[in-house]
Amino acid sequence: MKLIISNLKMNFTLEEAKSYKEALDTLECKKNTLIICPSYPYLSYFNGKNYYLGSQNIASRKMGSLTGEVSIEQLISLGIQYAIIGHSERRIYSNEDDHLIRKKMALCFDYHVVPILCIGESLEEKEKKLEVLKKQLDTVLYDLELKEIIIAYEPVWSIGTGNTPAHDEIKSTLQWIKEYMKNNYSIECKVIYGGSVNQRNIESLNRIEEIDGYLIGGASLKIEELRKIIEILEVKK
Ligand code: PEP
Repeated sequence: MKLIISNLKMNFTLEEAKSYKEALDTLECKKNTLIICPSYPYLSYFNGKNYYLGSQNIASRKMGSLTGEVSIEQLISLGIQYAIIGHSERRIYSNEDDHLIRKKMALCFDYHVVPILCIGESLEEKEKKLEVLKKQLDTVLYDLELKEIIIAYEPVWSIGTGNTPAHDEIKSTLQWIKEYMKNNYSIECKVIYGGSVNQRNIESLNRIEEIDGYLIGGASLKIEELRKIIEILEVKK
């Protein structure tokens, strides 16, 4: 079973979101788990039976006076069971740091929402990748009471660029994350890969056994490309 997580980001007008949703309802995803993360305003339209709902973010506080934010309780009332936390676009464009991300993770655990924690190195940090990942994991998770968690390894330089790391690098990084979480947090978690996944590279990526699933941005916006990716993953064990 692989996780297929579609991050629709800040795309689609309401009409476009509705027609995407209609096409989504015709997708067959039986062996794997499909999670759709639309923009907040469209969450209530995405109520299909063949996928779960995730949010692209949550507010760092529970409820109340935080203009322009959306709380985890509100998101749960719209049907989410998963939340993307610490996506690199939020780290870069909304100045989210690991301390803020930690608060959001704690809220997810309190409310039994499964966080999809995004970690990954920038191009400049490539040489010290494991050090960067270790710091991100520890600042965010140290001393929290962990529940179910999905970790998305997303090299920042791979997101939306068409460039992916060499497959043996993905393999060893995912192996390292799994071992690190087991040894330091006593938890076996699903670790997924994100960064320029598409219908052309999914088959070869899927030969990497360590990958428990994919966080997909650009390619998931095109419903026929998402269908193709799902079909390819359906025929694998
Ligand atoms: C992402 O934004 O998390 C992502 C993986 O995007 P893309 O698939 O477009 O690289």
